[in-house]
Amino acid sequence: MEFKILKRVVISIFLLSLTISLLEAKTSNYLRHTFLKENRLTLIFKYDVASVKHFTIRGHGVVKHVYDIFDTSLPKTEDISQFKAKGVRAFRIAQFNKKLIRVVIDTTIDDYKGIFTLKGRVLSFILPSDRNILNQPIPKIIKKHHKIVKHKYRFKNRKRYHYNRKRRVKIIILDAGHGGRDIGASGYGVREKDITLSMTLKLKTILQKMGYRVFMTHKRDIFMNLRERTEYANRHKGSIFVAIHANAAPKKRTPHVLYKGIELFYLSVKNSNRVKDRRAVYRGKKLYSRADYRKMTSASKYYNSKILAKVVKSSMLKNIRTKYNVNDKGIKKRDFWVLLATKMPSILIETGYLTNKDEVKRLTDEHYQTLLVEGIANGINSYYGLY
Ligand SMILES: [Zn+2]
Repeated sequence: MEFKILKRVVISIFLLSLTISLLEAKTSNYLRHTFLKENRLTLIFKYDVASVKHFTIRGHGVVKHVYDIFDTSLPKTEDISQFKAKGVRAFRIAQFNKKLIRVVIDTTIDDYKGIFTLKGRVLSFILPSDRNILNQPIPKIIKKHHKIVKHKYRFKNRKRYHYNRKRRVKIIILDAGHGGRDIGASGYGVREKDITLSMTLKLKTILQKMGYRVFMTHKRDIFMNLRERTEYANRHKGSIFVAIHANAAPKKRTPHVLYKGIELFYLSVKNSNRVKDRRAVYRGKKLYSRADYRKMTSASKYYNSKILAKVVKSSMLKNIRTKYNVNDKGIKKRDFWVLLATKMPSILIETGYLTNKDEVKRLTDEHYQTLLVEGIANGINSYYGLY
């Protein structure tokens, strides 16, 4: 009986949050026209564009220029994938989330800077000019499984250029939460440290099959403090850091049945007591130089951690929901040590609640664990491969 009431409460909370998210004002600015003329791709919006963020991702003989156009939406009628231009392998455009459109220009030109101009509602991308393209053969691209393939580029000055192996193969640091004498959360006789280690080992195998270099802070059930974990990640020069945990409902809060689902975290140092005098504080000690601290709290780290959290979350839910009904607790910002003291984009995944009977059953199930980590791996893959 009590359970029925709870169920009703949960359902009504769910419906309420659904209505709120539907009511949430959608951005009013949208893309009206796109055209390509000579070496210029132009997008014209209904209203002035607030801001555009540009960054590049390199790999597989292609440089991907990514442009995030904030507070805009994409009508179904607008597309750029049909456009062709010299030196451009592909044009792509998509609604990345409710608030922004993402444009991706794949080019084979290494020294193309990806310049764009924004004047009010007119956004123009200056495409690689003939100058860039002269004498530059387009390299063959083998995309399969991120295998290491050396691409030879011949520049005008006859200097041969090899893609750096280190730059091309991404290093991923995985951190199984807890271990050794630190058992983490527990519920129904299941210890968090066992679940996290088992899932992280599975995740490592999948990512390695995809072609990544994967390091685990620890592969056996041993104790490691948080500082050792982040120092390991920094020493191994990870390009991302992913911590796997399982949750427990707060002891005094009942009913536990309300605590369920998947939750992700990335860094925020607002109101943090771990940060003093622009130093990271661990167990009362100020650690790291200001330069280190700048890396740990850089804008690009925040930005990429957020993107990583988003793609991993949606890919996890997508994979799990093919078989199971799972609650989405969303993405939150925290100053957890592992998120702060890593110099690379980092996320922490709470995979479910050990205090919830249904979830603990699933979390100990091999098949469920596989679905879950496959989702994480796919998300990481799309973070690098770009959507
Ligand atoms: Zn934990």
